[in-house]
Amino acid sequence: MTLESLFGLDDRVALVTGSSRGIGRELAAALAEAGATVVLNGLDADRLESTRAEFAARFGEDRVAAAAFDVTDEEQVARAVADLEARVGPIAVLVNNAGIQHRVPLVDVALADWQRVLDVNLTSAFLVGREVARRMIGRGTGKIVNICSVQSDLARPTIGPYTAAKGGLRNLTRAMTAEWAAHGIQVNAVAPGYIHTEMTQNLVDDEAFNSWIVGRTPAARWGTPADLAGPVVWLSSRGSDFVNGQVVFVDGGMTVVV
Ligand code: NDP
Repeated sequence: MTLESLFGLDDRVALVTGSSRGIGRELAAALAEAGATVVLNGLDADRLESTRAEFAARFGEDRVAAAAFDVTDEEQVARAVADLEARVGPIAVLVNNAGIQHRVPLVDVALADWQRVLDVNLTSAFLVGREVARRMIGRGTGKIVNICSVQSDLARPTIGPYTAAKGGLRNLTRAMTAEWAAHGIQVNAVAPGYIHTEMTQNLVDDEAFNSWIVGRTPAARWGTPADLAGPVVWLSSRGSDFVNGQVVFVDGGMTVVV
C-alpha cells in the first residue's frame, strides 16, 4: 500500500460548493493538489471566474471547471449536476461547503432570515447531496463531506439559525449514512472551529471577541482554511473507505474543554 493509493485522487471529479473564496476555495485547491479535477461553485459569477482562472493557471485548464448555481434552488441544482456529469465526468467527491451566517438575537430573527440560513447551510446539502447520490448509488461508489461547525455541537448567543442548521447537518450526515453506506458511499463531516475567513473577519477585528476565542481554544489561535485541508482530503480518499457518518472536529480542541 502506498500513500498515493491511500490518499491520491487521480483525476476523480470533486465538486466543492461555495468554493469561489474562503474555506471552500482552500479545500478545492487541496483536492486538486491530491490529483482531483475540481468543480468550483458560487453565486457571484465574476468572483467564480477569477478563482477558476487562478486554478487553471496553477493546475491546468483541464483540471478545473466552474458552475455558478444557487445551492438552495432545486431546479438549478438538478440542472447543474446533470450538466457537470456530462461536461466534466462522474462526480466522485462532493463537499457540501456553502454556508452563510446571520448574527441577530433569536427573539429578533425574522422568519425570512431564519429560512435563508437554514436553506443555505442545511437544505443545500440535502438538495446537492440527493442529486449527486442518485448517480453515486448507480455507480456503487462516492464520497460526501459535509462542512459542519463547532456549532453542530455547541451554542452561543446571536447565531440561533446557524446553530440549528449546523446541528441538523450533523444529523443529516448520519441519515445519509444510514441510507447510502451500503451503496459504497461514505458520508462524513468536518466541523471547523473558528477559522479566519471573510465570514469571520468582523470577529477577528473585534479585540474582545478575538482574545476570548484565543483563550477558549486550547491550541490558542484561530484556525486557517489550510487546517481543514488534510481532514477533507482524507475523507475524500480511499484512506477513509470504512469511515461512515463521523463528524471530525477540527477546532484546536475547543469542543473538548469547558
Ligand atoms: P465565506 O463567506 O468566506 O464563503 C462562502 C462561500 O459560499 C462563497 O463561495 C459563496 O459564494 C458561497 N455561497 C453562499 N451562498 C451560496 C448559495 N446560495 N449558492 C452557492 N454558493 C453560495 O464562508 P467560509 O469560507 O467562512 O465558510 C465556508 C463553510 O465553512 C460554511 O459552511 C461555514 O458555515 C463553515 N464554517 C466556517 C467557519 C469559519 O470560522 N469561517 C467555522 C465553521 C464552519 P459567493 O462568493 O458567490 O458569495
